[in-house]
Amino acid sequence: MTQLRLAIVGAGPAGIYAADILLKAERKFDVSIDLFEQLPAPYGLVRYGVAPDHPRIKGIINALRDVLDRGDIRVFGNVRFGEDITLDDLKRHYHAVIFATGAVRDTTLDVPGIEAQGSHGAADFVSWFDGHPDVPREWPLEAESVAVLGNGNVALDVARMLAKHADDLLPTEIPANVYDGLKASKVTDVHVFGRRGPAQVKFTPLELRELGELNDVDLVVYDEDFDYDQASRDAIASNKQVMVIDRILQSWRQRPGVNGAGGEASRRLHLHFYARPTEIVKDAEGRVAAIRYERTRPDGEGGVVGTGEIREVAIQAMYRAIGYFGSPLPGVPFDDHHGVIPNHEGQALQVGSNDRVPGVYATGWIKRGPVGLIGHTKSDAMETVRHLINDQGSWWQPVDPSEEAIPALLAERGVRHTDLDGWHNLDAHELALGEAEGRVRIKVVDREEMVRVSRGE
Ligand code: NAP
Repeated sequence: MTQLRLAIVGAGPAGIYAADILLKAERKFDVSIDLFEQLPAPYGLVRYGVAPDHPRIKGIINALRDVLDRGDIRVFGNVRFGEDITLDDLKRHYHAVIFATGAVRDTTLDVPGIEAQGSHGAADFVSWFDGHPDVPREWPLEAESVAVLGNGNVALDVARMLAKHADDLLPTEIPANVYDGLKASKVTDVHVFGRRGPAQVKFTPLELRELGELNDVDLVVYDEDFDYDQASRDAIASNKQVMVIDRILQSWRQRPGVNGAGGEASRRLHLHFYARPTEIVKDAEGRVAAIRYERTRPDGEGGVVGTGEIREVAIQAMYRAIGYFGSPLPGVPFDDHHGVIPNHEGQALQVGSNDRVPGVYATGWIKRGPVGLIGHTKSDAMETVRHLINDQGSWWQPVDPSEEAIPALLAERGVRHTDLDGWHNLDAHELALGEAEGRVRIKVVDREEMVRVSRGE
């Protein structure tokens, strides 16, 4: 029977779902899968993107672990595609590759002052509070007043993590350096800015409602943002999610802190709508001093137009949470406008044409861009896998498809890779660290230490 030797690059939900779906799919050939991950631990954005105080979503790790623990997928962690292993290597040893590398960078925002000291991308901050090994351990949290740009769930995560008191995060898996950093934070006011109105936000209701339940944080909304146009009223009447979001926001208008007046809490979280950022104002030392924005108004079709009215709020730090962006992979076509591998339903295409790139596939955010919840990745993987199966005639013809070739190649290059047993070691170690302090888990942040613990060195 023919065999498909498949490499999957990226051990987040997209990569693991693709492997699982292929292994369970009806097909006329055997499959063996090697899953490569640049980090020493698997689970991608579930481990390093989902906020630590969202245990329900973090729980997806249990389902992903069940797939890996079945034992029919080999895991090679701490292996960087493009450095430790290249596309040419994959062509020598596999019949095809699926890239599932996601989107982990912040998209850019083209406004004056964006380069100011204290102007951050949300993705970097998320990586910090989730204990990503490749970002600095320290995060500056001296600002009293902070802006968060964007009205998606990442903006909510960032705003919530900034506004929450560090002690309220102790039940979570946050690393020690993150607890210490947040504990020392001087923040009193977090201002979230959305360029459109309350009926056009990208928040999901559950995540929005949570903002209003934070300990010692007043939620502040402004009456001026609720003068709806017909398009907003139609959206609220016709879309259940928008209706629930409106109901939550309206309930906050009844709270004492409305319009910024007189709440009791030591911290405030303000939601500003119809506010399009136009400039980050800097002080003489080049640090963030204020955010300048143009007040917008609805255009009648769900969009907005500028009113010409410019406003300013004094801040000392700014986080843009306006979307993630994919990163190019050496040797693989990349659409740098959309931040994805150009593709037709997961089959990679040459840039700017409909010509197929045989043997190369994509799934998840590197395929369709950084939108959608984790569950959406499953249907995405099904589509990609269906093509992979049907494309048998155009797979690569590897010169050495043996299973021993890859460990030998990595050893020859001195790559200290981790495997599934290694992940079990690290997992047990983190749980034990947590138990010693009465917490669920304490994440190991240092890459070298992760590798050492995984490899039992
Ligand atoms: P998103 O949902 O696409 O939201 C991006 C936000 O940025 C939108 O409000 C957008 O406004 C705004 N924006 C874009 N460009 C802008 C600009 N130039 N100026 C001002 N605002 C701008 O993206 P995301 O928040 O990064 O989330 C990505 C995906 O992950 C989403 O599917 C999200 O639901 C999911 N996620 C889920 C959770 C969870 O807890 N369930 C947590 C994190 C992420 P417009 O709408 O006007 O374009």
